[in-house]
Amino acid sequence: MRNRRAALAAIAGAASLALTLSACGQNSEGGSEESGDSAKGGTIGIAMPTKSSERWIADGNNVKKDLESKGYKTQLVYGEDDPDQQVSQVENLITQGVKALIVAAIDNKSMNNVLQQAKDANIPVISYDRLILGTKNVDYYASFDNEKVGELQGTYIVEKLGLKDGSKKGPFNIELFAGSNDDNNTRYFFQGAMNVLQPYIDKKQLVVRSGQTKLNQVTTLRWDGGTAQKRMDDILTSAYKSERVDAVLSPYDGISIGILSALKSDDYGSKSKPLPIVTGQDAELASVKSIIADQQSMTVYKDTRQLAKVASNMVDALLNDKKPEVNDTKTYDNGAKVVPAYLLEPVAVDKTNYQKEVVDSGYIKASDLK
Ligand code: BGC
Repeated sequence: MRNRRAALAAIAGAASLALTLSACGQNSEGGSEESGDSAKGGTIGIAMPTKSSERWIADGNNVKKDLESKGYKTQLVYGEDDPDQQVSQVENLITQGVKALIVAAIDNKSMNNVLQQAKDANIPVISYDRLILGTKNVDYYASFDNEKVGELQGTYIVEKLGLKDGSKKGPFNIELFAGSNDDNNTRYFFQGAMNVLQPYIDKKQLVVRSGQTKLNQVTTLRWDGGTAQKRMDDILTSAYKSERVDAVLSPYDGISIGILSALKSDDYGSKSKPLPIVTGQDAELASVKSIIADQQSMTVYKDTRQLAKVASNMVDALLNDKKPEVNDTKTYDNGAKVVPAYLLEPVAVDKTNYQKEVVDSGYIKASDLK
């Protein structure tokens, strides 16, 4: 299947070569969009991981818009969570002679060969949101403070349980979920959360009844909500016969929605069995609605419009022989080099501040929340 899809993507890519770059095209398999009128700065290739989550659709559109406003043309492709497909899409972008690449990788270790091709063709590469690992051929990294994301989630849990201010001692039951193991952000999110939670686990004020506390026991391949739902179902069946779960660390809104489905099918959310605290990330529409409805407890809002700006500015600087602005030159070692980064600040959002943070800022329209 993978090979077939990769082959189809290659054919789609070759076909799009024949199009003029100012044409506007969409292919159903890979989802490739070309546009822009000005030839001023040449074409920038943008490779995003999937359209299955709102944030990446917004990221793609925002990067495209920002680059076009600077006079570049763009070619935006989505890899539909298939690493092979993404690699062949990037290969096609290189063949088409893009001037720079912005890549949010699906599998952070799958890009080495194709980024060597980029290097050979003198195409600078921006690692977008997720750090690409194991290659020197990544020029800059644009992201958020990923460890802080996890810290915000962990802190929310210990505050809401009353552990942080000492008003409650516990023990409380908690279960832990992490993101996809092929995404470098996963370990930063988890580490950030565990920095906060581990001391309480050590003091037995937090108890993980499933016993699953190691990162490799709690990851969720491709951040899939259904996979998380199944794991939560299994945990509830095996570890919570008469006990109740009080908090669930969830790294991403799509996973949180899956976890909440499992909880609701086990009668959580009724008067006698309140829902546990459930964290999240991305301020996706369904999750902000869920927060308003007192189901999901919080999310971590990352203004991806700002991230798109950072990445576009990096490209613009590089193509004009200027040094892109960075604010971190230490944290993100990809195994081959420390990649200079610009990191934005994530914000914890719950029912008390969603209006100010995500609605008043224009990230989500009030009418979409109705
Ligand atoms: C991003 C998160 C997102 C997750 C799933 C991560 O790399 O940083 O914002 O929730 O991928 O798409």
